[in-house]
Amino acid sequence: MRNHSSIDRFIRSLNSVFNSPSALAFIPALSLGAFWIGGERALVSIALGLPLAITGLGAFSSKQTRPRLGRSVGLLSNDDFASALNEVFAETCRKGEDSACFAVVLDDYTQLLDLHGQAAANHVAQQFCARVMSMIRTNDCATRVGGNKMMVVLRPAGQLDLEACIQMSGRMQSAVEEPIMLNGTGVYMSCSIGFCLSGSFPDGSAMDWRDAANNALLEAQQNGPSTIRAFSSETRRRAQVRSNLRKEFETALDSGEIRPWFQPQISTDTGRVTGFEALARWEHPKKGVLGPNVFLPFAEHADLMGRLGQTMRHYAFSAMRDWDQAELYVPRIGINFSSDELRDPGLIDRLKWELDQFDLTPDRLAVEVLETVFSRRPDDVITRNVTGLATMGCCIDLDDFGTGHASIASIKRFNVSRIKIDRSFVAKADQDPSQQQLASAILTMAERLNLETLAEGVETPGEHALMAQLGCDHVQGFGISKPMPVEKTRDWIMSYRSKLNRVPKIGRETG
Ligand code: C2E
Ligand code: CA
Ligand code: CA
Repeated sequence: MRNHSSIDRFIRSLNSVFNSPSALAFIPALSLGAFWIGGERALVSIALGLPLAITGLGAFSSKQTRPRLGRSVGLLSNDDFASALNEVFAETCRKGEDSACFAVVLDDYTQLLDLHGQAAANHVAQQFCARVMSMIRTNDCATRVGGNKMMVVLRPAGQLDLEACIQMSGRMQSAVEEPIMLNGTGVYMSCSIGFCLSGSFPDGSAMDWRDAANNALLEAQQNGPSTIRAFSSETRRRAQVRSNLRKEFETALDSGEIRPWFQPQISTDTGRVTGFEALARWEHPKKGVLGPNVFLPFAEHADLMGRLGQTMRHYAFSAMRDWDQAELYVPRIGINFSSDELRDPGLIDRLKWELDQFDLTPDRLAVEVLETVFSRRPDDVITRNVTGLATMGCCIDLDDFGTGHASIASIKRFNVSRIKIDRSFVAKADQDPSQQQLASAILTMAERLNLETLAEGVETPGEHALMAQLGCDHVQGFGISKPMPVEKTRDWIMSYRSKLNRVPKIGRETG
């Protein structure tokens, strides 16, 4: 072992001498000297032999060392970066010098994907990587993680401090902020950076060091685009809080604390219940019932929307089966799908399986998709999923209609069957003529396009009556009922039915 390593060391030192640029300067001198001492034959041997020897040593040596920290000419693979990080970490500890690990992410990548598509996003991400690379020294190491993130580790240096790291981050940001050409026009991107100085992370392993940089990045991202954050003891504390919250959220999903509450939708024509919308609630043992505005942003950030969606569908489909068994005929259940879920290539197969489990046909499901998801340029997976769900027989509901910019072409392309007019157009429409005008214009457009309509957030009998008169097909809102847990739905349906039979109907005929 010892012999091997001393040979290795000798080869490495020879290699470093011969591979250095200064070695090249000696080749003419050596050749001249050889000619002077040994004549033409010596000249030819040195002039041809020396380059061959250098190449041979280089090749031999490159097989021995992996990855070659001193010669980083491009991005390392994730595995090589992990080894490099380990080496830098060990070297830093050994020498007592400072180094730093950076996590750099291109901001607004999802929007870029939605607006310009995958190929354009790839091109921009490549430019991003090249620009970050151009800001680090050749012996520093970097790797690309996922579509839009890079990890960088700097080699130990005597005077690397917080100020130097902030300056380095600023230089990376400036490089990334230069316009990137895309189809002849410049797009302006920015990046967020989290870093961890070896000095501010005295314990743990190289992987903990990388995680610390990632946690600093998370804090940078939470503070808006183009932000820089350094790891500190506070970062560690907040990371712990986040990790506890994640565990708590996952346990709540498993234990049934997070489940749908149901809000009825009724026909303005017949007055009958035409469906329920499933809305997520967290029945927190200490904090009471929490609405989605409290936990959806966290779930999105923690990549838990897929799991939330599966849980919601499980409870919603099981409620449908119970209603069917109790002969409470509820035609449809509306479920909200996040853009994350709609980007899942396995969504259709999973949904088919889930519906089968509960013996439900696809027409019993209304897939609620936000208008903002439609109005962006959808990537291929979203288009395939939404049109696939429509072909399967699901109803596609365009949610919060009027707040986004869905084109008529996209409404047709996605096979939308119903638009849900946003609450902002419904509120006080019976008293405010300009509100009424807007609601009426939307309903006329829907009628021409042969789309069903539902007015959201109907709170008063006046709004209900106006929507019916204007020809809106369905209404939903606190005026009919607030969302309720599944146990209460049966009683609500029964009492609503008996009320419906007793009072004169508010329907289109009333107008
Ligand atoms: P949304 O899909 O537009 O759902 C309607 C929201 O309006 C619900 O709020 C509902 O409680 C509220 N609402 C209904 N009628 C009235 C009314 O008459 N007046 C007023 N002021 N509000 C009314 P909620 O439950 O807080 O949900 C907020 C949003 O969270 C939903 O908006 C939906 O976008 C999202 N969301 C809820 N559950 C899920 C879920 O399981 N998955 C996903 N991806 N998103 C969900
Ligand atoms: Ca909805
Ligand atoms: Ca809505």
